[in-house]
Amino acid sequence: MAHVFEAALSGRSKCRGCGQQIARGEVRFGERLPNLFGEGDMTLWFHPTCAAYKRPESLLEGLGQATEVVPEREKLEQLARGTLAQRRLVRIDGAERAKSSQATCRHCRERIERDAWRIRLVYFEEGRFIPGGTIHLTCAPAYFETTDLLERVLAFSASLGAEEREELKREMPRV
Ligand SMILES: [Zn+2]
Ligand SMILES: [Zn+2]
Repeated sequence: MAHVFEAALSGRSKCRGCGQQIARGEVRFGERLPNLFGEGDMTLWFHPTCAAYKRPESLLEGLGQATEVVPEREKLEQLARGTLAQRRLVRIDGAERAKSSQATCRHCRERIERDAWRIRLVYFEEGRFIPGGTIHLTCAPAYFETTDLLERVLAFSASLGAEEREELKREMPRV
């Protein structure tokens, strides 16, 4: 079954990418996958932008098949292609300050100090996003091989307040 773009009929569906509600009337992207737990297909719903960041191949496939008008189509294509440019970018799941000093950075293998900014990683497996640890914010350019990260990190950082978002912006490595 083909992927789908459609206006959300209610405001009750949640985006698999960011965990936030998809507003009623907003266009959502449905990724169709074979149902791993039973017969037929299952549909994972996303904000189209979240899919461009986390499921770029499926989104591009969907855009290729779409017969309906998709708002901001070119921008979505660009974002998805940008994600595919580096294989690890799909793992970005937002940023937070470390709540303790127990975690080890998946990049440099050193401890992440309490209160240091870190980026959460996820892996998509069998129709779900599985937490895959965290890396230092300062290790992000080496790990992702790019510094163009802010927008995609913020997209999955809904729990941060305005002030924290500003802090993150300032502390995001630029070189
Ligand atoms: Zn989303
Ligand atoms: Zn590190």
